[in-house]
Amino acid sequence: MIYPIVIYGHPVLRKVAEDIQGDYPDLRQLIDDLFETMYKSEGLGLAAPQIGKSIRLFVIDGTPLSDEEPSLADFKKAFINAHIIEKCGDLKPMSEGCLSIPNLREEVNREDHIRIRYYDENWEQHDEVFDGYKARIIQHEYDHLDGILFTDKVNPLRKRLLKSKLTAISKGRFEASYKTILAGQKIKST
Ligand SMILES: [Zn+2]
Repeated sequence: MIYPIVIYGHPVLRKVAEDIQGDYPDLRQLIDDLFETMYKSEGLGLAAPQIGKSIRLFVIDGTPLSDEEPSLADFKKAFINAHIIEKCGDLKPMSEGCLSIPNLREEVNREDHIRIRYYDENWEQHDEVFDGYKARIIQHEYDHLDGILFTDKVNPLRKRLLKSKLTAISKGRFEASYKTILAGQKIKST
């Protein structure tokens, strides 16, 4: 099923998400649904809190960018109980956007290398190093698990300029091609 996307201002986006157990109900289905929802809204990644579930799960598929970024070809993965254990390398700026903050892009600095532990959809544990574009996308999605949004990371001056735009978005003043949930709207539990 395709879920509506939770929009900036909703408290679930600010929670620190919890690890889950291997017997989490209908986990496979949930992962499929996250991918489906992400494709429908044309995102490169989607984290469970963005559909209102405060659990440490996100999915990524970088394939649509692989023409310009060959390293992203077939970079399709689910990350369960993800924990970044190391970040290093130079901070690099790059423009980012987020399905929970429609039509807004800002430059964000991030480390170039990360080491992350996670389980995949077959409940196999991984301890892997990623860099470049992959590390960037992972860090963006991972931040959602810690209640952090990319707009938190822009420089203080830009942040001040963004304030009214973010308030407008939180009140539903935006155009999106996908269904959304605003602060104060109820998330249906399935
Ligand atoms: Zn995001």
